Amino acid sequence: MKIVDVVILGGGTGGYVAAIRASQLGLKVALIEKAKLGGTCLHAGCIPSKALLRSAEVYHTLKNAGNFGVTSGEVGFDFAKVMERKNSVVNQLHKGIQQLMKSGDIAVVEGHGTILKPVDEENPVRIEVAVDDPASGTEVVAAKYGIIATGSRPKSLAGLVVDGRQVITSDEALQLEVLPQSMIIIGGGVIGIEWASLLADFGVEVTVLEYADRIIPTEDVDISKEMLRLMKKRRIKAVTGAKVLVETLEKTADGVFISAEVKGRIVTYTAEQVLVSVGRSAVTEGFGIEETNAVVEKGFIQVNEFYQTNDPHFYAIGDVIGGLQLAHVASHEGITAAEHLAGQKRPIMNADLVPKCIYSRPECANVGLTEEAAIAKGHQVECGKFFFRAIGKALVYGD
Ligand code: FAD
Repeated sequence: MKIVDVVILGGGTGGYVAAIRASQLGLKVALIEKAKLGGTCLHAGCIPSKALLRSAEVYHTLKNAGNFGVTSGEVGFDFAKVMERKNSVVNQLHKGIQQLMKSGDIAVVEGHGTILKPVDEENPVRIEVAVDDPASGTEVVAAKYGIIATGSRPKSLAGLVVDGRQVITSDEALQLEVLPQSMIIIGGGVIGIEWASLLADFGVEVTVLEYADRIIPTEDVDISKEMLRLMKKRRIKAVTGAKVLVETLEKTADGVFISAEVKGRIVTYTAEQVLVSVGRSAVTEGFGIEETNAVVEKGFIQVNEFYQTNDPHFYAIGDVIGGLQLAHVASHEGITAAEHLAGQKRPIMNADLVPKCIYSRPECANVGLTEEAAIAKGHQVECGKFFFRAIGKALVYGD
């Protein structure tokens, strides 16, 4: 049995940053990861998607080089190489995290962790790890404190089965070997819009079906409108107020057909593949949370402002607690939890002040309340608007 001060379940952005902070504070730390250190952000989220977006951007810029007075030869792209580059960026960062764990003297335990019933008052947190090597069986890590950082996985619509071939999520999209000719994207939120932008730049015919009355509904209304206008200009078909009728899904050798109810009419859409991007579910099951007093409500682990669950020995951070499911939020929560269990109290995070970005073309970003949210909170609101055509840098970049 390994005994440490704090054991962290899940080595994603939240988990590994919490491990580093706890180690910096002089605590003995173990980090349990069943797949790869770096989690969603590094292997199936932020980093690979941004690497692909960058290739798409370079391709777009080269195609339009003439507008900048630059001549180039025939412009094309090799999708296999685009993916190869994405993989190499991910691998490089993965090695970096492994190195960080070594230099922080953090014991990384590879395998699926399951929380066990407490037996010892001094080290009430016990996690059994089914280690990868079957010959060595399982290993138990005991600690005074545990941090649950099990993250999230892609959601689908009720009844819509992701088969990984014709109906995919961002997980499979990031592993595509060949680009489809056309793609229906269900969900026009952040992930859906980034994919729409990226695929369209690579020449894929894209249709976005969004249930809300606007795309990127978490953004300011003006941003949603402008993004929709620019998407349409790029020949991305974006349909808002579209209720996808899952039962109409038909898969044929020629492609996928699916209907949606749009403003009272039933419209059928077809494409080679369907990408489902309707949000992410927290991973709250399959690791023995029932052995703790932590409470799961509406699919998320409930925590106080220091990320402590209802069980004082367990903290929970990152996507598994909901709120803003962003990498920098997960790391911030990890740092706060590590400091709190070490006896420090950092100021409580103000979720309204977290910056959020969408890396589509054009990119957009926000911090603070949207106009709508500010009005809803009873503030008196004054809006300032500035147009791209009057911004020097936008003109310089040809935006
Ligand atoms: P995760 O990164 O999901 O890590 C959880 C880890 O726990 C995983 O490695 C998993 O294997 C491990 N685990 C789970 N259960 C167990 C167990 N029982 N035993 C052992 N290990 C276990 N955020 C941004 O800020 N910017 C972006 O640009 C951005 N882009 C994104 C693009 C996409 C396509 C996606 C899907 C997400 C994106 N995100 C982005 C969100 C970001 O990836 C997440 O918010 C972040 O990864 C959450 O970190 P986490 O540590 O909570 O969970």
